[in-house]
This record gives sequence, C-alpha cells and structure tokens, in this order.
Amino acid sequence: MNFEESEEHRLIRESVRKLCSDFPDEYWERHDREGVFPDRFFHNMAAAGWIGIAMPEQYGGAGRGIQEAAIVLEEVAASGAAMNGASSIHLSIFGMHPIVKHGSAAMCQKYLPDVATGKLHVAFGVTEPNAGSDTTSIETFARREGDHYLVKGRKIWTTKALESGRVLLLVRTTAKAQVKRKTDGMTLLFAKLQEPEVHISPIAKLGRNAVRTCEVVYDDLPVAVADRVGEEGEGFRYLLDGLNAERILIAAESLGIGRAALRRAVNYANERVVFDRPIGKNQGIAFPLAEARTRLDAAELMIRKAAWLLDTNQPCGAEANMAKWLAAEAGFFAADCALQTHGGFGYAREFHVERYWREARLMKLAPISQEMILNYVAEHVLGLPRSY
Ligand SMILES: Cc1cc2nc3c(=O)[nH]c(=O)nc-3n(C[C@H](O)[C@H](O)[C@H](O)COP(=O)(O)OP(=O)(O)OC[C@H]3O[C@@H](n4cnc5c(N)ncnc54)[C@H](O)[C@@H]3O)c2cc1C
Repeated sequence: MNFEESEEHRLIRESVRKLCSDFPDEYWERHDREGVFPDRFFHNMAAAGWIGIAMPEQYGGAGRGIQEAAIVLEEVAASGAAMNGASSIHLSIFGMHPIVKHGSAAMCQKYLPDVATGKLHVAFGVTEPNAGSDTTSIETFARREGDHYLVKGRKIWTTKALESGRVLLLVRTTAKAQVKRKTDGMTLLFAKLQEPEVHISPIAKLGRNAVRTCEVVYDDLPVAVADRVGEEGEGFRYLLDGLNAERILIAAESLGIGRAALRRAVNYANERVVFDRPIGKNQGIAFPLAEARTRLDAAELMIRKAAWLLDTNQPCGAEANMAKWLAAEAGFFAADCALQTHGGFGYAREFHVERYWREARLMKLAPISQEMILNYVAEHVLGLPRSY
C-alpha cells in the first residue's frame, strides 16, 4: 500500500492552488452577496484546461480520471471559493459522463468539445417538486412527434439553468404506471434551454448565491431525437453510471470547504487574545479544531480510496457513498467549529467563515441527502431490508 501523492497529482494540486490564489475570499464574498456568476474564475479555469480534465482527449479534454478531477475540485473549494467556485465548474467537469458513455458519435463531437473548453455551460435537470429523492416518480414527459420530442413538465433545483445553453434532462417517455420496472421508461435528453418554451425562475436560497439554482418550467419544448442520449427508456440506468463519480467529487468539495474553514479558524485561534492569552490556548477551542482535522483527514482517505477504485474500474458504490457522507459531516463540523472559534465575528461576513458554514450545510442535503446515503449503506453494504 502506498499513500504517497504522485508527482502528477502534486503538480495538479499546486497549479490549481496557484490559479485560485488570484481569487481571494473577497472576490467570493462579493459575488455571493451580489448573486453574480464568477465569470472570470470560470474563464480562467477553462483556459488553463481544468474544466476539461476528465473529458476524453478525443473531445478536447485531458482524459484524466476522478482522482485528478477530485483534486481540482478540492483545491478550488479549499482556496476559499467553496461551493461558489466548485459549483460553477462541477457539472462541466464530469456531468456529461452519460453523453460520453452512451451518446452517439455525432452528439459527442457536436457538444463535448465546447463543454471541455467552457464555451457551452451545462445544467442537470433531474429533481422535481413532486418526486424529490424518489426519482422514478418524475412526471416531466417527452412525447415523440416524428423526428423530435415535445417536453412538458416542471423541474426544481436546476443549478446554472440561467447561464447554461443546454441541460441534461431526465424525462419520462413512458408513464410510471405503464412500465414493468419503475426504473424503465425514463429517457435522457440534452435539451436546449430556449425561450419561449422554457421558463426559468431562480430560487432565493441560504447560500452559494453566486451560482443560482432555479425552477424550470418546460412548455412543449422541442428536442430533436438526435439530442437523445442513447436509447429511449434507458435514461435512469445511464444516470446511475455517473453517480459514484458525482458522490466522490461532492465529497472532495466538502473536504475543501472544511480545510478552508479550519485554516481560518486556526489562524484566528492563534491571533485572537482574550483574557491575556490566545484563545487557542483554551482546550475548549483547541479540541474541536483538532477533532475537525481528524475528521477531515479520515474523510480524505475514503475519498482517495473510492476515486482509486473507480479509476481502476472496480466496484466502489460503498466507498463513494461513505466518502460523501463522511466528507459532508466533516466539512460541516469544521465550518461550525470555525464559526464558533470566531465568536461574534464568526457571524460577520468580513471573516468569511459564515459563508463556508452556509455552503458546507448544503453538502448534507444535495445532490443526495445524508439519509439516502445511509439507506444505501444499510441496504447494499449491510444487507438490511429496504425501508422505502
Ligand atoms: C442548492 C441546491 C442545488 C441543487 N442542484 C440540483 C441540480 O442541479 N439538479 C438537480 O436535478 N437537482 C439539484 N438539487 C436537488 C437535490 O438533489 C435534492 O434537493 C435532493 O436530492 C433531495 O431531494 P428533495 O430536496 O426533494 O428532498 P426530499 O426527497 O423531499 O426529502 C426530504 C427529507 O426527507 C428525507 N427522506 C426522504 N425519503 C427518505 C427515506 N426513504 N429514508 C430516509 N429519509 C428520507 C431526505 O433525506 C430529506 O432529508 C439541488 C438542491 C439544492 C438545495
């Protein structure tokens, strides 16, 4: 067993860290406060090739794996960009995996190079108000009319819908009541987010406000059959192919936020003097920070293991899910300790830990809740009966 970081991984980490150092906390605080997308950051990440890191070389990417993509996203979050930075690029880095794997050659050639270079922003439309975590209950329907579909329905929580040209959209092409297995009859479309058939409304939310997330209504949106990913009715299975990678990348982002929060907390605990001594001398301050570091390092090990398993084509469902759970808990714990360490100043925007705290909280909810992760572990790892 070798835990040493490879030279290539170290170089990726250092290069991303250097690029991110041009975007200090103040940049992210301002974009978060004003609700403005971080265009310059997105552009610089694309120009340096980081957005295309996991895209196959034939489509203009670097053809690297999830281990490398996880390092990129961890470093972005750890720079203080947190989720405002990570979510601006996350979907472009790996969200197109179902197209890479199941899309036609023409579809891949037409779209993927533009995703890899950042020219085409993309969104992911799965969640619906009436279905939530129960994805097979989605109701958005695509009805076939000759060489195109007409899509009607309502999605919620579509991140970057306002900035994106296209959305990877999960729809029903056969109603749930008419299929043998509830996972049948769903189809993935790479749909254009065009007016007037698409109506997008941003949702006012707690944090990560530089990257807006939206309700999207589709009113007979035409989508060419050529923009269907793979076979009709197989969309749910195509989606599953990318889920472990998604869990690992989200875990890496949670880890990064935790590292950013802890860095600020330790600095503050060393500098802030109350009762004539640095507050870090109090074990009531030091122990939670030491515990936060311990939890983050443990989560990191599971992330590295899951990413390595995935990149070497081995089963990694258990590890990917556990990594997401551990890192989301560890990231939020670190952010909460950082806020407490700052006392009243932790509540002020100026010290940035309140922003990390708001964004770390999101990781326990999305893209999958901690409860659904535990459902997976209970059922698939422990062999307990499914509870729902
Ligand atoms: C900021 C943000 C960005 C997002 N971006 C996207 C996006 O780009 N694209 C997209 O498609 N979606 C996106 N989502 C949606 C996200 O994936 C969902 O919010 C998440 O999957 C949970 O679904 P829900 O909110 O409907 O919760 P629900 O399914 O309604 O669940 C509510 C609560 O009940 C619990 N629960 C439900 N069923 C069970 C059960 N069987 N056992 C135990 N507990 C259960 C859940 O864990 C949760 O705590 C985003 C969400 C947020 C907040």
